[in-house]
Amino acid sequence: MRIFLTYDYELFFGEPAGTVEKSIIEPTNLLRAIASRTGIKMVFFIDVGYLKKLAEYKDLFPKVKAEYDAVIDQLKTLVAEGHDCQLHIHPHWEDCTHTGTNWKMNTSRYKLVDFPDAEIERIVLEYQHILKTITQQPVTIFRAGGWCLQPFSRIRPAFEKAGLKIDSSVFPGGKFTAGNYYYDFTVTPPKSTWKFGSDLCIEDENGPFTEYPISAFSYRPAFFWKLFLMGRLDPKNHKPLGDGYPMPSPGLRKKMLTRGMLLSASADGYFVTKLDAVLRKNQQKNYAEMVVLGHPKACTRFALKKLENFIQRHKNNHQFTTFTRLPQL
Ligand SMILES: [Zn+2]
Repeated sequence: MRIFLTYDYELFFGEPAGTVEKSIIEPTNLLRAIASRTGIKMVFFIDVGYLKKLAEYKDLFPKVKAEYDAVIDQLKTLVAEGHDCQLHIHPHWEDCTHTGTNWKMNTSRYKLVDFPDAEIERIVLEYQHILKTITQQPVTIFRAGGWCLQPFSRIRPAFEKAGLKIDSSVFPGGKFTAGNYYYDFTVTPPKSTWKFGSDLCIEDENGPFTEYPISAFSYRPAFFWKLFLMGRLDPKNHKPLGDGYPMPSPGLRKKMLTRGMLLSASADGYFVTKLDAVLRKNQQKNYAEMVVLGHPKACTRFALKKLENFIQRHKNNHQFTTFTRLPQL
């Protein structure tokens, strides 16, 4: 199995958005240390809208300049160490401002499809260019902010212009259409990768793009009760290292605690305890790939320890790798 540990490199999108040190720099450095101790490479999907806004405000406010310098410096280190730094778009940054003390988040246009066609194309090409300029590497791999990339037919022209080749936004079976979110992955090809054209969830052998879906897992209510309880009982090990607040997901918590939920396979917090089960499931299906989603901001001490154990346990029988190392790229 090829295992891709992928991390969305971003602040929180509620208020406060969290500090760059606690929510990005420090947890990413802990992940870098794990990668270096275990000899593996990871994938970082970089929230480029944030980089754009940092650049926009850095000459106005010294605080933002320091934030900008820290992030750019870390991205260059990640690239130098051989990790993938690829494109993650949260287009709501277009509508966000900085007051000199903190970010003012406006998530009313949270998805790319909330923007007109011409703007979608402008955003994708501009963000790709910003990232490429920093990393000096080709940028051909994409993950949508909040899994929101539908209807893809409206985004396809921008993907083609930008020469994007791989998407990793889908998690099979997932569906959430409340608040600012919209994604519906109820029906997908029963595979661990597929080619697609105008619809993310329909296989098209002649399509120009390849989907590497994030593995999915059905978490039971008891799992979520444990997760919430551990955060209360043992915050030192189970509270996220990031210090911001997420954007609201209406009704989600209640659903998790009463009915359970199918979500991405994840290295975040207590979700890490299910990685072995996800791996077994993917093996039973004869999948050759397993994509795990994580966020530096949502790492806990517990999760980092368990993740390192997971890698050590499996690195000889499986290949922890990145998208740019795929033979076809
Ligand atoms: Zn994100």
